[in-house]
Amino acid sequence: MAQDDLFKKVISHCKEYGFIYQSSEVYDGLSAVYDYGPYGSELKNNLKQYWWKSMVQMHENIVGIDSAIFMHPKIWKASGHVDAFNDPLIDNKDSKKRYRADVLVENFMDKIEVKINKEVAKAKKRFGDAFDEVQFRSTNPRVLANVEKYNTIKDRLADYMSNSKLDELKALIEELGIACEVSGSKNWTEVRQFNLMFSTQLGNIAGEEGKLYLRPETAQGIFVNFLNVQKSTRQKLPFGIAQIGKAFRNEIVARQFIFRMREFEQMEMQFFVRPGEEMKWYEYWKDARLKWHLALGTPEENLRFHDHDNLAHYANAAADIQYNFPFGFKELEGIHSRTDFDLNSHQELSGRKLQYFDPELNENYVPFVVETSIGVDRMFLCAMSNALVEEVVPGTEGKESTRVVLKLHPALAPVKCAVLPLKRNDDNLTGKARAIFNKIKYSFNAQYDDSGSIGKLYRRQDAIGTPYCITVDFETLEDDTVTIRERDSLAQERIHIDKIEEVVRQRIDMKQLFVE
Ligand code: ATP
Repeated sequence: MAQDDLFKKVISHCKEYGFIYQSSEVYDGLSAVYDYGPYGSELKNNLKQYWWKSMVQMHENIVGIDSAIFMHPKIWKASGHVDAFNDPLIDNKDSKKRYRADVLVENFMDKIEVKINKEVAKAKKRFGDAFDEVQFRSTNPRVLANVEKYNTIKDRLADYMSNSKLDELKALIEELGIACEVSGSKNWTEVRQFNLMFSTQLGNIAGEEGKLYLRPETAQGIFVNFLNVQKSTRQKLPFGIAQIGKAFRNEIVARQFIFRMREFEQMEMQFFVRPGEEMKWYEYWKDARLKWHLALGTPEENLRFHDHDNLAHYANAAADIQYNFPFGFKELEGIHSRTDFDLNSHQELSGRKLQYFDPELNENYVPFVVETSIGVDRMFLCAMSNALVEEVVPGTEGKESTRVVLKLHPALAPVKCAVLPLKRNDDNLTGKARAIFNKIKYSFNAQYDDSGSIGKLYRRQDAIGTPYCITVDFETLEDDTVTIRERDSLAQERIHIDKIEEVVRQRIDMKQLFVE
């Protein structure tokens, strides 16, 4: 499936099969806000469960919390979000369309990368087996010129972003001849900083004093609870605190479905370490998090690390795990070495000590922090893009047919097993199928369906990613055996009713994700 096509298909599949709907659709929708439907919420819960199990339950030294969305407004002053959580925005005067200035430049850079890759692909085709890609990339003049152009733009962008050089950023957009995709014109406004936090007002306090923010990240709820958690759980360094929860950002441009939303969910873990040991743990978590993605079956070639060119105000090292989304490699997860910035700032502004007493060193200090942060929704989009497949399968009477199948890892699948009667109008078959469903529904998410012909029912279960379908036929009535059909291989096997739970359980168990 072509990438452009895939993105459109993922979006329409999500709607058609009850995974994701546009929020407030009956009022024409609310931009960049989405609701999860019946299968979407199951898949989302499974993703969260996989993360929680692997981070919290598999680590003796990581504990979970669930902090409130509303927090004292000073928290966002201390964290730097009030002053520095900005994106540079620019408007096109003719179309009145608003853009992120840095994203305009990044898109331009993406085009250069595409040109380089095309050049390489062309040469590969021409030279066949004899092609040496490394040598070609390091000697071909056209490739070299484009790489140099790319790197120069990248360095300038990093400098302008880190140092808030907004005039220079606008000049760069003009120099590169970037035009608005709607009007085609290069008639741009000045670049301005735009704060991404949503604010609201506390009921009984008027003015600035009562201004509350909707949290733009869950991490601060962890930092301000650091000592509470450490003391109440008697953890020793290094240890981590994990949390899953909603975050809100007033994104300037939000056009990529659930990739960039204004209300989204994060899974974050802050790992507290001795000062000076943060780089060791930074490498450890980069490696551990990549393995988490690979265990799900995400192809290695679709994942890559990308080191940050311009570090956030709190970090001394940062890398993204990027996934090859249908619109290219983009950030899926961030791993950041956040130093002691946050704890120090909260200590200063609150006047309360946020230090750890290290019994081995016999010394108090503010720990350093390594963070892993992934958006649930981006992970959802990654899982869907990876799983949605159209394939040709053998049909009846030797004819081939095309099926749409969601090849999600069985541990993530919204429905684990569907029980289907061969004929919907036969009370004996439907009664037996219901009885089987009523037996297995206690063990995992199962579904009974008799709303169509068996072929149609299979297709529907394939489309929502159900790993197993159980067909109840006339033989079942005689000997209590059923046909169990496996989603990916289409293999069918006859097993006894008493075996169903065991067979299904084996494949859907999250344990295998850790063993693998
Ligand atoms: P980007 O550069 O794409 O805006 P970011 O660097 O601001 O992302 P972080 O602040 O590192 O993102 O947030 C951690 C994670 O939260 C991201 O890796 C992403 O998975 C998720 N995330 C951030 N912003 C959004 C959003 N607007 N919608 C959905 N998920 C998001």
